[in-house]
Amino acid sequence: MPAETRSSDAVLAVLEPLIGFATVSSESNRPLIDHAAALLRDLRADVEVVPSPDGAKASLWATIGPKIDGGVVLAGHSDVVPVAGQDWTSPPFAMEVRGSRAYGRGVADMKGFIACALASAPRLIAMNLKKPIHIALTYDEEVGCIGAPLLLRWLGEQGVKPEIAFIGEPTLMQVVNAHKGITVARTTLHGVEAHSSLAHKGVSAVGLAAQCIVLLIEMEAELAATRTNMDFLPAHTTISANTIQGGTAVNILAGEAVFEWNVRPIPGDDANAIIARFEAEAERRILGPLRDRFPTVALSTEIVANAPALVPEVEGRAESLAKQLARTNSAIAVPYAAEAGQFQNAGLSAVIIGPGSIEQAHKGDEWVELDQLSACAAFIERLGEHLSAA
Ligand SMILES: [Zn+2]
Repeated sequence: MPAETRSSDAVLAVLEPLIGFATVSSESNRPLIDHAAALLRDLRADVEVVPSPDGAKASLWATIGPKIDGGVVLAGHSDVVPVAGQDWTSPPFAMEVRGSRAYGRGVADMKGFIACALASAPRLIAMNLKKPIHIALTYDEEVGCIGAPLLLRWLGEQGVKPEIAFIGEPTLMQVVNAHKGITVARTTLHGVEAHSSLAHKGVSAVGLAAQCIVLLIEMEAELAATRTNMDFLPAHTTISANTIQGGTAVNILAGEAVFEWNVRPIPGDDANAIIARFEAEAERRILGPLRDRFPTVALSTEIVANAPALVPEVEGRAESLAKQLARTNSAIAVPYAAEAGQFQNAGLSAVIIGPGSIEQAHKGDEWVELDQLSACAAFIERLGEHLSAA
């Protein structure tokens, strides 16, 4: 049996139960975390389970090798996106191997990587690591990268200072040294209710929301025309409004409207500055002119989630080590948001590298090539060898 086949079999044995935990972000991830913690504790790894503020979910932090600063974090989010409304050939929360692929929700995004890390743990523990390898599992990534900052804050409180983070989002094992950020905002408009036959006595909040969304479309067009980074497609910071609710009846000027939108900044653009500019422009152009007659019209914007972009590092240690271990000279940028920017903001050198393709993420019949799992397992094994060398 070729070595590649054996390594993917070992990963599949670990992956199958992980897929069985239906860790959609709206549900608890505790069963998966407790399972991974037990598996690592059986190997005598040092394991901490870090509960979420409400205790419903948890992150995992495990250390293999010496408990010293430096070393490498293998980071993965344990949550997955929902399967409702998608076409699946086999049950999404039961892994199935068909031909050269494994199918199931999360096999690519990103339990495949987590399984590679867990399956490699016995080998890593048997090595004489001079620097630690940490396994970090987070929650609520798919709803705005909410869990990772809490784990990183806890790490800071512990005084643990790892040097490098590899975030195992699906990149087909290519090194990703830049990703866009994401900031999710919810804007509430307060208008003035009136019967729609007496339109001069009120202001429709739905109408205000429409004007605000047009303002955001204009702001995005301006960014597209003035600030681009050709490493990304699309090459500019995007702004999109994607949900809207408001009003109570078709013949009443709406008293309230709420819309949700997101900013996905290229590195160097500041989503908070964009939101501040939106609020200032909305006040100047849309709400301000109404104030004389309707002093109670108002706009407020709440930031729901906020994850920074991953900025390419100059001579980044994560990038150079990942290239060496993946045996490549190139690195790419990706347009989606991930946790790597948060690890970078916490002081680590960070890149994304993981098995499978983002093309299959979030879709029905999500799959990963078994070769990709083998390649990732080999990558982690080479990491262990690298950290064992004097
Ligand atoms: Zn992911």
